[in-house]
Amino acid sequence: MPKIAREAPLDFKVVNFIRRESRRSDGQGVRKTNISSAMGIAASTASIITSKLCKLGKLSETSDNRIKVNGDYEYYAGISIGSSKVKLTICDYTFEPVTIDSLQAKFSTATFSRFEEILNPLMEQMSFIDADKDRLEFCKESPDNIENINCDLTTICNFICDLYDMQVEEGESNPFSKIKSICCAFAGWVDFFEAKLLKSPNLNITSSCSIDRLYTESVKNRLVERKIQYFIEHNSKTAVVAEKEVGGIWVPSEDSPFKYDNVACAYMGVGVGLGLILQNELYRGNHNLSGQIGHAQMPPHEKSLGDDDLKNTLCKCGKSRCMEMYIRKDVFRQVEDLKSADIEELAALLRGDDTAADKLAYYLGEPLSAVLSMLSINDIVLTGKLSKLVPIIESKLNRIFIDHGIADIKIHTSELGEVAAARGAAICAYFYSHECPVTWNY
Ligand SMILES: [Zn+2]
Repeated sequence: MPKIAREAPLDFKVVNFIRRESRRSDGQGVRKTNISSAMGIAASTASIITSKLCKLGKLSETSDNRIKVNGDYEYYAGISIGSSKVKLTICDYTFEPVTIDSLQAKFSTATFSRFEEILNPLMEQMSFIDADKDRLEFCKESPDNIENINCDLTTICNFICDLYDMQVEEGESNPFSKIKSICCAFAGWVDFFEAKLLKSPNLNITSSCSIDRLYTESVKNRLVERKIQYFIEHNSKTAVVAEKEVGGIWVPSEDSPFKYDNVACAYMGVGVGLGLILQNELYRGNHNLSGQIGHAQMPPHEKSLGDDDLKNTLCKCGKSRCMEMYIRKDVFRQVEDLKSADIEELAALLRGDDTAADKLAYYLGEPLSAVLSMLSINDIVLTGKLSKLVPIIESKLNRIFIDHGIADIKIHTSELGEVAAARGAAICAYFYSHECPVTWNY
């Protein structure tokens, strides 16, 4: 079972602050005086801590006396098993995904060809999320039962262990031997503290499944031998973590003086989930079960009130009148299988059918309005499939928010899009392997 301390040690907070501030300065690093003033610690303390962290290799000092996080210090893997796709990303200590270019530059020809050999079995099952971006980010269709989840996690974890074991030429070092932990984020109800996937209707998991059942014995043994820790999380929570940490929406600007202490992130694959950061901390709710907004029950859209078929259709969770059932069966009723549907096709459908666009705005906007107004959240990021669909319905969605009296809400379209949940899972893997809570309270 994962252990999480109530508060992170100061050293850990300093690294996190520098990592995030460096991103704001385009990776140039942070001045020591900024660290002490922004974190409210004495200049001498900041200096002692940063010197210690530089010696440990976690930080490095640039020629103009700025402090940066050393990307090569440790690595983390993030997996998301959502309702439509499995995704994998491997991130370095700056939380940026590892690029193949960087490996080619680092390795001799012999080591690089060993890396390619290790990549081959993975590429038989998965493909690059975006081949142009040249990142270690992969995807495949989602599994639909526990055996297939076992298979996918076996392929992925064997790849990670093989990378960890990779033999390198003399004088080179293997960065992947510094992979510390893996976090796998699932669609559905995930009890993080008990390490259980309680239920995931979209993956056909109808009864509680412990983390031990999700991974096969041989995979667990390989991970334990290499001291690689593994965790599970809820994919909407990891998505909001990625949006807050690396999504680029958090940079305060003149027209947006708030530092995004409160952020909501709606993630859509086939289902819809909601991740929340409240007062700079990941919000979990009882047993980590917050955010199941896709199963919020509501009346159908006014144009579908007389649709008896829709009235009698059950959501995959077993209830009727769920928001995500309406999105599948009312908004995208012509789409045979939303799971494998091409996102551009869905976007074209909404552009060509104003009623469908109205309905999507209604099904998302009504439950979201209730949450956002009650919690007084001014920023919402729409990610996953929504990052491509929201620009089409944004004005309609805004109108619904205004109707509910929340005119000052800002709708952000995610830059991370479909990689958000996996990127966030890698970031959560970092927090959890340090037994620290996911917070931005430095
Ligand atoms: Zn439901």
